[in-house]
Amino acid sequence: MRKRLNVLEKSLREECGVFGVSGHDTAAELTFLGLHALQHRGQESAGIVTVDDDGTARLHKEMGLVAEAIKPHDLRELRGRTAIGHVRYSTAGESELRNAQPAFVHYRDGSLALAHNGNLTNAAELRARLVGEGAIFQSTMDSEVIVHLIARSQQPDPDRQVLEALSQIEGAFSLVIMVNEEIYAARDPRGFRPLVLGRKGPAIVLASETCALDLIEAEYLRDVEPGEVLKVKDGRIEELPRLAPTVGAACIFELVYFARPDSSIWGCSVDAARRAFGRQLAREHPVEADCVFSVPDSSNSAALGFSEESGIPLELALIRNHYIGRTFIQPDQADRDFKVRVKYNPVREVIDGQRVVIVDDSLVRGTTSRGLVSLVRDAGAREIHFRISSPPIRHPCFYGIDMPTREELLASHLSVDEVRQHLGVDTIGYLSLEGMIGAVKEFGPFCDACFTGNYPAPLTDLEKGLLAAVSSR
Ligand code: 5GP
Ligand code: MG
Repeated sequence: MRKRLNVLEKSLREECGVFGVSGHDTAAELTFLGLHALQHRGQESAGIVTVDDDGTARLHKEMGLVAEAIKPHDLRELRGRTAIGHVRYSTAGESELRNAQPAFVHYRDGSLALAHNGNLTNAAELRARLVGEGAIFQSTMDSEVIVHLIARSQQPDPDRQVLEALSQIEGAFSLVIMVNEEIYAARDPRGFRPLVLGRKGPAIVLASETCALDLIEAEYLRDVEPGEVLKVKDGRIEELPRLAPTVGAACIFELVYFARPDSSIWGCSVDAARRAFGRQLAREHPVEADCVFSVPDSSNSAALGFSEESGIPLELALIRNHYIGRTFIQPDQADRDFKVRVKYNPVREVIDGQRVVIVDDSLVRGTTSRGLVSLVRDAGAREIHFRISSPPIRHPCFYGIDMPTREELLASHLSVDEVRQHLGVDTIGYLSLEGMIGAVKEFGPFCDACFTGNYPAPLTDLEKGLLAAVSSR
């Protein structure tokens, strides 16, 4: 019997992507395309809700990639000029359709749909209170508490219901919420996750990243600001009262790893940020070597920066197979490097006999990196110098990046030299915290909790021992 192996059972999982369109005849199609551009932010499920001119709302959501989950005949059913959508990567065990978004309900003022990127830090506490009051939850996701808070609000109109709900939640949220044909867009006051505003002709578009605007040829207007709550209807934008202000804490890991390099978030080109990290890394940890290469695709821009600064030629020495499905049959003879070999193959001609620099964007559990190092060694590398374009990750994220527990984070219990030995490389160098922040300081302030353990938003559920009660997404 062959064993089934989930080759994409990764050490970290992507977060979510959100999208919305107001006032366009092909709202569902544009949302489909927008979600496709945001696919890197979540590959587990995709969904779209639309509202047509008669006020009828329709939902389609399915497990899988956007193009698998939403077929042309589904799109034809999703009529209307208003749409929101979501792509999601859930945590293990909770990867099921009932946790896919948008969340969608009918309540006393009409239809209500919600797409959330981020993670609430008091969802379990709110959920316990709501359940105590008689609420019946349909999913285990934290985002569902927002739906209940809106639907159970005693406020007389949707504006005030939404504002009241938003004032009670803590943590990270970039939200698009559809109440009938109105879309509300909001970011938490610290602005952990990105959310941008664009225009396509008369229509207004919301998206996690600008790469989604590019695909549908929408013009970027500006970011939704931290704490800002907007209401969009028929292409018109209304500003509602802001959430209580506080110090900003944009997630710097978006720039390190998550966002696409062709996006611009919080006014910063992701490509430029990663190149700057790579250049700074080369200054902090210089080395004599014959070539430098990335671990495609996430560290491509950083490796380019490293090469530019050091003058060491950039090579394409690791080739990535892009066609790995979510599950994969493991041959009987598979060894522990199999997962890595399925995804990457070294170009022996480039590596053989050379002193090489491998630039990766981050080191999490070290499993991928360790496997890669042995592949590169087997391909004949004479020396391997590992360079990481972010500091050691020592603390879990509670704001929407699904990091493993502290014990599983390699750098939480090993010194830098022990990490070097564990990977089996000749030298290792992490970008310093100061070097990383310094390279992008005009776009901050940033949340750097995964590197420092300084958590900017309260960790209510964790402190009250409630964390297991709710999905971490
Ligand atoms: P490790 O060697 O620690 O097992 O894995 C490091 C690799 O994981 C790096 O190449 C980095 O790009 C990637 N990585 C970092 N964060 C995430 C994430 O949230 N999801 C996935 N799938 N990969 C990640
Ligand atoms: Mg990577």
